[in-house]
Amino acid sequence: MFKEIKRQITLFNTLILIAFLLIFILLLVFLVQWSLNLSGEMYLSQVAQSVKNGDDGALKKESVPKNTIVHNDIGYEYIIWDSNHNVEQMKIKNNSLIMQGYEYDLKSDFNDDYKIFNLDDVSYRIYSIKMNENNQEKTLQVFQEITTEQSVIRYIVFFLLFIGCGGILLLIPISYFLAGKSLQPIKETFENQKKFIADASHELRTPLTVIQTNVEVLKLKEDEVLSDNLRWLNNISVESETMSKLVSELLNIAQADNKKIVLERKVFDLSALCAEIIDLMFDIALEKDITLKAEIQENVDYKGDEEKIKQAIRILVDNAIKYTAKNGVVSLKLMESLRSVCISVKDNGVGLSNEDQKKIFSRFYRVDDARNHKTGGFGLGLNIADMVVKQHNGKIKIESELNVGSTFTIVLPKTTLK
Ligand code: ADP
Repeated sequence: MFKEIKRQITLFNTLILIAFLLIFILLLVFLVQWSLNLSGEMYLSQVAQSVKNGDDGALKKESVPKNTIVHNDIGYEYIIWDSNHNVEQMKIKNNSLIMQGYEYDLKSDFNDDYKIFNLDDVSYRIYSIKMNENNQEKTLQVFQEITTEQSVIRYIVFFLLFIGCGGILLLIPISYFLAGKSLQPIKETFENQKKFIADASHELRTPLTVIQTNVEVLKLKEDEVLSDNLRWLNNISVESETMSKLVSELLNIAQADNKKIVLERKVFDLSALCAEIIDLMFDIALEKDITLKAEIQENVDYKGDEEKIKQAIRILVDNAIKYTAKNGVVSLKLMESLRSVCISVKDNGVGLSNEDQKKIFSRFYRVDDARNHKTGGFGLGLNIADMVVKQHNGKIKIESELNVGSTFTIVLPKTTLK
């Protein structure tokens, strides 16, 4: 799919380049042609003036406009026709011009005007003007050969087409490469999204299967009393809870991905929040004979989304308890510095290898999938905590050693408290 899009982008870019090249060439040719015509016409009218004044020899240098040097070098030819269309005076190199001039002289409407025509593969510009001499109306025609001019334009077009085509041929692979580069982030997002959907469906399938199986069992026991079958109902209830937790985590992630989460920033007492989390987790820790310690700096105010920050800290404490064996110690520490607040959660649990430390923030990543599944996690907690911290422009640091323990530290930059 992406290859096709890449090809389409390249084709589109190439077409745009060709269109630009053609417009550029047309514009340039038009401008060159226009300026050559203008200077040519100025030159011819100067020549006509000079011939009218009786100076039929070389044009006086000072009477030639500055930008008509080329034309002056090429030279000019002229014919003066009397009122009976007979040649009265001329300076002609190419005799065929006389016939052409005669035809133009017959057309009485061609006066004080310029024309370009071809004669035996040679291009000419002609200027024709009526003049009155001794009460006789005569026509003065001045010719200028412009074959060189035309070939210059042709050469310009060929040259530009050649350079342009070469450039486009060179740019096609570059454009293909750049299209690939610019598609890379979209491709990655797409792949992640695909993986996310596949993983989420996989995670949802397990509790659904358990629920289905238990319902089937219950159907077979329709004659029995409910109190004898609480075990199956209990299974259904546990799995429904698991599913509902997963769905709410997925919703959290999806909202954050869509940037739909609007943080409710307000100033709150972070010290009190940490103390509250310790209270909340105390029983869970006690169940595992884990000592939960707290070292909380007092009166630390922070401006942010209280609920989200609570969620992130809870995830870290929850993990510390989950991944620490019986009789372990988990401690929560809150410290405030000049520019930031640090919340660190330390445990003496299973620890993490360097390799795993890099991966644990990825969605659905679990270090030991089989073992950790029993703990009920989906591998989404740290991803959610990381998103929350990032939304507050902070970061989570990890220090960990396998079988020694881990310390997760949330560093949040302090914003103005107003
Ligand atoms: P889960 O819901 O599986 O705990 P998390 O995203 O919270 O998902 O964590 C991802 C993985 O990181 C966990 O499965 C676990 O292997 C590892 N992990 C997280 N916290 C700790 C910790 N304090 N000590 C050791 N391993 C941890």
